[in-house]
Amino acid sequence: MNGYFDYNATAPMLPAAREAWIETSGKNWHNPSSLYREAGEARHLLEHYREELADALGLDEPERVLFTGGATEANNAVIRFLAEETERAVAVSSIEHPAVYAPAQACLKGDRFREIPVNPDTGTVDLEILAGWLQTGELGAVSVMAANNETGAIQPWKKISELCRDAGVPFHTDAAQWFGKMPIGDLSESGFVTGSGHKFGGGNGTGFLVLPDDEFGDQFHGQVGGPQEEGKRAGTENLPGIAAMVTAFLDRSEEPGCGRDDFESKIIQELSCEVPGQSVSRLWNTSLFVLPHSKNLKWLTRLSQRGFSVSTGSACSAGRGNPSRVMAAMGLDFEAMGRVLRVSGSRDNSIPDWEALADALIEIDGELRG
Ligand code: PLP
Repeated sequence: MNGYFDYNATAPMLPAAREAWIETSGKNWHNPSSLYREAGEARHLLEHYREELADALGLDEPERVLFTGGATEANNAVIRFLAEETERAVAVSSIEHPAVYAPAQACLKGDRFREIPVNPDTGTVDLEILAGWLQTGELGAVSVMAANNETGAIQPWKKISELCRDAGVPFHTDAAQWFGKMPIGDLSESGFVTGSGHKFGGGNGTGFLVLPDDEFGDQFHGQVGGPQEEGKRAGTENLPGIAAMVTAFLDRSEEPGCGRDDFESKIIQELSCEVPGQSVSRLWNTSLFVLPHSKNLKWLTRLSQRGFSVSTGSACSAGRGNPSRVMAAMGLDFEAMGRVLRVSGSRDNSIPDWEALADALIEIDGELRG
């Protein structure tokens, strides 16, 4: 049985990615910026992986891909850059991961920080409000995630990307939870897009940023330091990590896994759990629900004793008692937030794994009531 149901927090490295990591760290550990033959080979390999990733993302220009140390770094860099590029307001959705929300709050003072509300029933961004702001010309940039890490709610990011393009406003999407779970589609006309390697089995501390094919992409700069990544991202490249991440990316499947929907039907029927935003299109692996009674930690601990790993929300705020911004935006009160569990599976969870998880919850319900 695979009782690991916290894939939105992190996923184990895929075997092919681990092999690529071991091979590259053994053979190509040299600094790609140095001048001897082995460094040239490392440089060549780095560009090879960039081309492969660009190709998989549907991009004709490999230079539009920057390698980073994760989605947090890439998101911070984009938000800081966009905040510097415009004097107008920058709009981010109220359900962004802290990797976007916190830098936006830090860089944008007063009413330059604009929060796009979500529809409380679905947990998806209110397009009408955003479209209205874009029409009046008050926005200098927009950032909306592709899919929410807590609820799995898929955001209308492709539509927003078009609206922004028509309005001539740069757009960023944090696609950390999208890649590896959903089909990529065509990114050739995308704005800034960020991805995280460890969410799709590519290893921790790896990520990437797709730059738009326009003046914002040309002028983009992340942290300053060395001249790596064409001067757009400083720091010695993590070539073994890049090898692992790109290998995992190429190894990914676009087929959805299954078991989540029957799991939800069972816990709704047997435990009267509520699933906020159930009606909306969500990542096929994610289920966030409100338990009928008792603090979520009691359930989580008992699940853990039975071999199931789940989360009380996003891994970043789990265990810290911080109210979830996402849950608040969806209208949950503080008490109900303390009864939320998030389970996020993968293609490695079989239907019997999901069934066993539902049965364990039903058993724990009896125990806690007893
Ligand atoms: N963005 C989203 C939506 C996430 O879910 C996460 C991880 O939880 C991140 C960003 C951060 O990614 P990383 O761990 O690669 O910095």
